[in-house]
Amino acid sequence: MKIDHLETINLLFEYENGFEYAGGKCTGRLTSLILVHTDTGQVGIGSAYSHPALVYLIVQHQLAPVLIGEDPTDVERLWKKMYQLTRWYGRKGAAMSALGALDTAFWDLRGKSLDKPVWSLLGGRQPACPAYASALLWKPPAAQAEEASGLIEQGFRRVKMRLGRGLERDEASVRAVCKAIGSGHDLIVDGSMRYDVPTAEKLAAMLQQQNVFWLEEPFEPEDIDSFVSLRPKISVPLAAGENEFGLQGFRELIRARALDIVQPDASRCGGISEVKKVADLALAERLQVATHSWSDAVTVIANAQVVSAVENGLTVEIDQTGNPFVTDLLLEPLTVRDGILSLSRAPGLGVQLDPEVINRYRMADPLHVPDGLYSDMFFGRPAEG
Ligand SMILES: [Mg+2]
Repeated sequence: MKIDHLETINLLFEYENGFEYAGGKCTGRLTSLILVHTDTGQVGIGSAYSHPALVYLIVQHQLAPVLIGEDPTDVERLWKKMYQLTRWYGRKGAAMSALGALDTAFWDLRGKSLDKPVWSLLGGRQPACPAYASALLWKPPAAQAEEASGLIEQGFRRVKMRLGRGLERDEASVRAVCKAIGSGHDLIVDGSMRYDVPTAEKLAAMLQQQNVFWLEEPFEPEDIDSFVSLRPKISVPLAAGENEFGLQGFRELIRARALDIVQPDASRCGGISEVKKVADLALAERLQVATHSWSDAVTVIANAQVVSAVENGLTVEIDQTGNPFVTDLLLEPLTVRDGILSLSRAPGLGVQLDPEVINRYRMADPLHVPDGLYSDMFFGRPAEG
């Protein structure tokens, strides 16, 4: 099997009425799909969640010329080749996310050529893993409670909410949601990078009383010292990693003893290969892996291949904010029952993209992102006032 050509498809969705969160009012969502076309007609699928125009340029203008003609099932060698080509400006950020999307597509093709699902190639026995609903943004506590009950009714057993509005409001929200979901279900909280160590310690004491499942990113990702300082002072597990890249980045976090739960994301940190390496490293330190995903269903499925295969795989994240790249992109939608996401037994990732959905949201110019606040990325001038 040889690579014939690469295709980078940038997708953009605009909310009619977006959600409020720590970054402001979210107006839309972005993601990049990477298709690896081969001489056999088989196509590998991957995704990147980064600056879409940079992903396009890196894949189409730098990596494509050296990948065309290569055997895509030679995943490890191609990963190194892509890394060495982008190292000077890459290592963390868009280049790592772009090469990770290709890595995931190569895993898809390796599975298709061997007629085996990726989870099985990674050592997994069951095509399933726990999944949690990621939603509950900045709303009044009563609205959050109602939303949380709805997510449990849909089949989730764990839900994640966003904090960072000050201790008093955060506490009211946590209490309302815990009451709504009832015992037997777990609440996860995301600190939205809005805390300092003393305040996070107070927050964690309240979270402990409510049996919160983990506290995520109370601090900015560069502030490793605050994670290290907080962790021994609290008993709620501390999680982070959505803003980390590559095995080396996670090695630094793990070596510093900053975290209880690591959150790599195949669409950001270097693909399925790198998430698996991070999971193995975490296992050696007796840490759990709960992958991050906030961009599309291909990412969820890519992450789930690893989580389902490793013994320290805790759960995957599924965006439940009405993101069509999560709900509509696959011909066979994601299904969660009793908190468990099912994976396909079909070869590779076992996913098929819906061409109509791709056409509906495809950016006409892949290098031009219209002004807007796309949850994690902002383009244009901030609104006055
Ligand atoms: Mg987060």
